[in-house]
Amino acid sequence: MKKADIGLIGLGVMGANLAMNIAEKGFRVAVFNRTTTRIDTFVEEAGPLAGNIVACKSLEALTVAIERPRPIIVMVQAGAAVDEQIAALRPLLGSDDIIIDAGNANFRDTRRRMAEIADSGPHFIGMGVSGGEEGARHGPSIMVGGPEEAYRRIEPVLEAIAARFEGEPCQAWLGPDGAGHFVKTIHNGIEYADMQMIAEVYGILRDGHGLSAREIAPVFAKWNEGRLNSYLIEITAAVLSATDSGTGKPMVEIILDRAGQKGTGRWSAIEAQSLGIPATAIEAAVAARSLSAMKDEREAAEQRFGALQPGAQPADEQALAVLEQALLAGKIVAYAQGFAVMAAASREFGWNLPLGTVARIWRAGCIIRSQFLDEIAEAFDNAREVENLLMTPAFSALIESSQSHLRRVVARSAEAGLPVPALSAALAHFDTFRRARGTANLIQAQRDFFGAHGFERVDREGTGHHGEWHQA
Ligand code: NAP
Repeated sequence: MKKADIGLIGLGVMGANLAMNIAEKGFRVAVFNRTTTRIDTFVEEAGPLAGNIVACKSLEALTVAIERPRPIIVMVQAGAAVDEQIAALRPLLGSDDIIIDAGNANFRDTRRRMAEIADSGPHFIGMGVSGGEEGARHGPSIMVGGPEEAYRRIEPVLEAIAARFEGEPCQAWLGPDGAGHFVKTIHNGIEYADMQMIAEVYGILRDGHGLSAREIAPVFAKWNEGRLNSYLIEITAAVLSATDSGTGKPMVEIILDRAGQKGTGRWSAIEAQSLGIPATAIEAAVAARSLSAMKDEREAAEQRFGALQPGAQPADEQALAVLEQALLAGKIVAYAQGFAVMAAASREFGWNLPLGTVARIWRAGCIIRSQFLDEIAEAFDNAREVENLLMTPAFSALIESSQSHLRRVVARSAEAGLPVPALSAALAHFDTFRRARGTANLIQAQRDFFGAHGFERVDREGTGHHGEWHQA
């Protein structure tokens, strides 16, 4: 029997769909899953694609079924399961084979795994895959990190299965070691901020303007035809239009307001902090999910402080236009923060991350896909030296024209008691970023006062100046 071109371990939601995608593109894929009954179900569901699938009931059988040198995608739960799979595979593989971890790994784990495996092989690739179930099946965005020569060997498969934006495949090798998983992490961090800001605007429309879900849905649908056009705005309109057949109520109204998280958003905030890069809109989004999980405490606090009185501000065209622009301004800052974190990580780890390419492979397939990312790609391509998106000509003009709307929305929400943590973090970031003379002179004075830490002066060279604090 003809050997398989590639192997795949882990036929869960992502793995099964990715394997179908690979088979559909004409590659033979050998598959294995820990719970072997899942393999039979998978083959049954593959229908006509089964001809390109080699079902293997053990790891040994899997490794024998693939043409050498063997690329094997591992799509299992992130964490210890990946280490277990690597340990089980290594004795069965040669130094020229390739293990590709396609789960949502912490890039620090990827760096560790790569270092552990580096001497004896096989090659190790850390590959971020975005797009959920649909993306995996019909075209995800794929972010690759690891040895470039190993990537080149699997590139034809990745190119075939990736999403396409105007014909260009949304996959790329982004740099050595953990570069791919780091970029995927920041993608998810930006996704958190994007979703949170959309939820905040939904909250303003619901609680400040007194609109029902069915009334809010067309607002997002209309915005999806303008500057905010994106997958997340599109699905927000769809979600708000959906009805629960059991109760006849809008679906969103019967869903508990307690959001889950698996780690990538939190990792984005942690890595931003470790690199000393402000990513406050992302941090606010992560914190908002944590606060959402404290349902009991929030209920007790509402008892204690009283419920917010629902507003009935008219949601006229002008009010909606202001909200649309505010969301755009907030989004620009969140993306600028995410890209700044990637630029800093690139310097720190020597990855030479191509930020324009990152934006380009996010234009389709992934959860934050949008036309907006095409503009970001162009902004980075046109201004190579500028690392901060806010300082590129296109985006500085865009934030300049939209920031007053963000200011108005944040101010009115604060007065009305409507929480907008990510939008207000974005505004505060912009206001702090654009200010040449800030207030850290006072911080430096305080530090010198209590700890003799020294400071720089505006009128002299040197860093170790001290104040005359303890005058009688
Ligand atoms: P899933 O549906 O829960 O499937 C998990 C898979 O991992 C199953 O095949 C499971 O095998 C296997 N597994 C778990 N523990 C294992 C172990 N100790 N040893 C061997 N196999 C083990 O998960 P998923 O949604 O496909 O996610 C897979 C990876 O993709 C994760 O890293 C996830 O974060 C990432 N990801 C998910 C999405 C998404 O939208 N779902 C998007 C992007 C990335 P059994 O059948 O034997 O339990």
